[in-house]
Amino acid sequence: MTVIMLGQNFKYETEAVLKLFYPVRAFDFVFVGDGEPAPKPDGDLIILSRKIYSGYADLTAEAFIGGKNLTDHTLVKLESDDYEHLCELGLCRALFDCLKELTGISPEWGMLTGVRPVKLVSGLMKKGLSEEEIYSHMQGRLGVSREKIGLAIKTAKNQEQALKALPKNGVSLYVSIPFCPSRCAYCSFVSQTVASFLKLIPEYVERLCDEIALTADIVRGLGLRLDTVYFGGGTPTSLSAGELERIMSVISERFDLSGLREYTVEAGRPDTVTEEKLSAIKRGGADRVSVNPQTLNQSVLDAIGRKHTVAQFFEAYDLAKKAGFGAINVDLIAGLPTDTLESFEAGLSEIIRLSPENITVHALSIKRSADLMQSGGELDHELAAKMISYSGSALGAAGYEPYYLYRQKNQLGNQENVGWERGGSLGIYNINMMEEVQTVLAVGAGGSTKIVADEKNIRRLYNPKYPLEYLRRYDTTVAVRKREAERLLREIRGRENE
Ligand code: SF4
Repeated sequence: MTVIMLGQNFKYETEAVLKLFYPVRAFDFVFVGDGEPAPKPDGDLIILSRKIYSGYADLTAEAFIGGKNLTDHTLVKLESDDYEHLCELGLCRALFDCLKELTGISPEWGMLTGVRPVKLVSGLMKKGLSEEEIYSHMQGRLGVSREKIGLAIKTAKNQEQALKALPKNGVSLYVSIPFCPSRCAYCSFVSQTVASFLKLIPEYVERLCDEIALTADIVRGLGLRLDTVYFGGGTPTSLSAGELERIMSVISERFDLSGLREYTVEAGRPDTVTEEKLSAIKRGGADRVSVNPQTLNQSVLDAIGRKHTVAQFFEAYDLAKKAGFGAINVDLIAGLPTDTLESFEAGLSEIIRLSPENITVHALSIKRSADLMQSGGELDHELAAKMISYSGSALGAAGYEPYYLYRQKNQLGNQENVGWERGGSLGIYNINMMEEVQTVLAVGAGGSTKIVADEKNIRRLYNPKYPLEYLRRYDTTVAVRKREAERLLREIRGRENE
């Protein structure tokens, strides 16, 4: 589809709106300068223009799609405060309204394309807006449905307690274990399968321990406190019990864990979970684990190339329960290929029957690099939306509350991922991450350190993505970035103490 851009350059924002309606189409953006003639290509066409008339900018979207055409526009005063932002918003809204009418699709999150809608709601709450004002702002200005606004408000309110208890000088530690026993077909994560990288693991574990020790020195030296620890992946339980023990013992020896509010290890794939590993994790200090089947339908598990059985999930869950963790999280995905509404509902009911402290329901995110996309798998946006809507009512009825929510690019049906909890077991690390209220020091390949000075001042430092690259560049990149993180944190501490 050709998109002609006249008098403005809001490509990033308008492309995000286009993708809400055409998630897998490619767009050819053509920029036309003042006075230049606009090309007249064949096929579907969108013209996005900004023209200036007596004190106003006229932002117009014209869509010529499938033999139908529609125009929408809005005006912005030239002397408005925040003029560029209002123009961008106005053009996106005109385009959104045109496409909504032409396609008959009503994205429930409206024009919101960011990953953190709850952060937007918390921001509005902090400014003193009432719930009705938040509804009116998000519905009127951004086209978000009342159901999604309600969900975001509820989530923001449920987070309040955890955010209030945020310790001063607290930081979180993220430990990246980018290995998996095999690669699932919907996954675009850069994880390495254990079979092909088995030889790297011992060296990886040692380097990771070095980086953890270095990070602990920085935290101690700056008088910071560890608030949460999170092992993610990949699949952390791809490692052996001994390897997990080794990493966790470096954490408990090097850090002061007396103020720790949460320690999570994502066990992830049930086929990697053993009694021995769970007891090593428990001894190592973790009180929260995740065991993730994604679906309880065996034929769907087979279709997505997730090489474990439904029975293995129940066994792993049972082991985690017997090991006595304070909280267990279970992940499910809505919109998996070949899944049906009935099978999704049955799977969710089974999980609710187990009554884990946390259930996280994701809407499938379509990544071009996933094997599933390469093989042209069928995806059903409407069905995913129905599953997500069902999960909200079923979990609500079972006494679960939404406590964190985020969106990814290209999620089926333009839906979201929601973490649900019961009995006050909120996953604190998840909230801190999504609200961007705390520094996260990440270690390991693919780790992304986030230094939070305040909500508008966040710096990210990335470790090399792949384990081999991580090992080779440990001295030249990883250790150097840690020192950079230390420098930034020292500056922030200096400012706080002024
Ligand atoms: S277990 Fe998770 S990270 Fe590993 S391949 Fe499957 S989806 Fe990707």
